[in-house]
Parts: sequence; structure tokens; C-alpha cells
Amino acid sequence: MTDTRATPPKDMSTSRAPRVLVVEDEQALALLLAYNLEAEGYIVDRVERGDEAELQLAESAPDLVILDWMLPGVSGLEICRRLRAREDTRALPVIMLTARGEETERVRGLSVGADDYVVKPFSVPELMARVRSLLRRAKPERVATKLAAGDIDLDRETRRVRRGGRDIHLGPTEFRLLEYLLEKPGRVFSRGQLLDSVWGMSAEIDERTVDVHVGRLRKALVRGRERDPIRTVRGSGYSFDETFGKN
Ligand code: CA
Repeated sequence: MTDTRATPPKDMSTSRAPRVLVVEDEQALALLLAYNLEAEGYIVDRVERGDEAELQLAESAPDLVILDWMLPGVSGLEICRRLRAREDTRALPVIMLTARGEETERVRGLSVGADDYVVKPFSVPELMARVRSLLRRAKPERVATKLAAGDIDLDRETRRVRRGGRDIHLGPTEFRLLEYLLEKPGRVFSRGQLLDSVWGMSAEIDERTVDVHVGRLRKALVRGRERDPIRTVRGSGYSFDETFGKN
């Protein structure tokens, strides 16, 4: 791997730079990593203690964590275990760092769910390449600001929806409804689930309200003979047709 510091992380097509949390108590190494990550266009948060890592994680969710094994406070191993136990961080990419000669630890590191493992001293360009590769592999819908299926595009940041190049004007409820269905194409949601997720738990609304809004969403999305991307599943609810745009 050659040094690619001059190349921005092109695979991140989102408008937000990926955020990397570095948990490392060796200051010189932490600075070196932060310098190189920032040069690649990432936003870097840095903490030196294991217990600080948890606070930092709660403050701003990173897209990837570089985690030293031996840390004051809470060990890297334990942090990784906790990350994997929590729903919101289960899929967060983690690269573990450790000292040479702890090869048996490698198995433990991977067994608690680290995605990758790097033995010190390591080559910085090599680590940068692993960071890029992991971010590319990470669940794209977690960082995606854009969702798309077939000729339909939804942009979460600009709140714009387009179909075949034309703007689709949606009310806020229809927008959230489409966004929610598009996140999991093929999955069938009951009217109750949609009320909970799209309208909010506190909503005490008749389930027929869902039908009304799905109707409005369809009317906005489908023009003429265009295909309807939303499937009504009799007796169950609605889903975004997973074959839409694929046949
Ligand atoms: Ca250490």
C-alpha cells in the first residue's frame, strides 16, 4: 500500500466527513494517527482513557473506532464487548491495536467483535487503508444521507425526493413514511408499527390514517403508467417493493 494521504476518501459520497474516534493512551501514537486521519479528510476525536471513550461515544457517534487494547480505566477489550452489546453500536466498525507478542490476544479481540486487528508497530498507510476499507464495508444506510431504489432518490439532508429526475413534493409525514419504508426494502410493516415509527409512540391515531398517508405518498410518487413502488400486503400492512427498479 502506498501512502495515499493526498487522496480524499472518495468512497464516502455523503456530504458529512466520516468521524473516527481514536482511543489510545500513547500520546505520540495518538497524535500521529489523528494527523494522518485528518489529512485524509476524517473528523477525529481523541481520548486517552477507556472510561473517557464511553463518554465520547455518547457525545458524538463515530463512524469507526480505533481502539488500543491496553488502556487505563476500561480496557479496549471491554469497550469492544460493550459496543457489541448495544443495539446502536453493534455494527460500528472497530480496529483494535495491540503490542507485538500478544498474538493469543488476537483471538480474544476478534471474538469480542473487533472488525480488524493491528499489531504495533504498524505502518500508518496500512492502517489508513484498513480504515477506508472498513468504512466502505460498514452498513451504508447508517451513514447514507441518500436512499435510492430504482428511479427514486431520497435525500435526508435536503429533504428532497426525486423520481426519474423530477421533483416529488411530499408533506412531512409522507416524507418520513417513504424514508422509513426505503430503509428496509421488502420488509412488511403493520399499520401499528408504522404509526409507532413514523408518527411516534405517543400518537393515538386511527390505523386508517396510515392508509390515507400511503395513498397520498403513492399519488405523489406515481405518475401515469409508472410502477407503484409500495406494496400493500393484505392483512399485514405495507412494504417498499424490494424488486422495484430491479426488473
Ligand atoms: Ca496502551
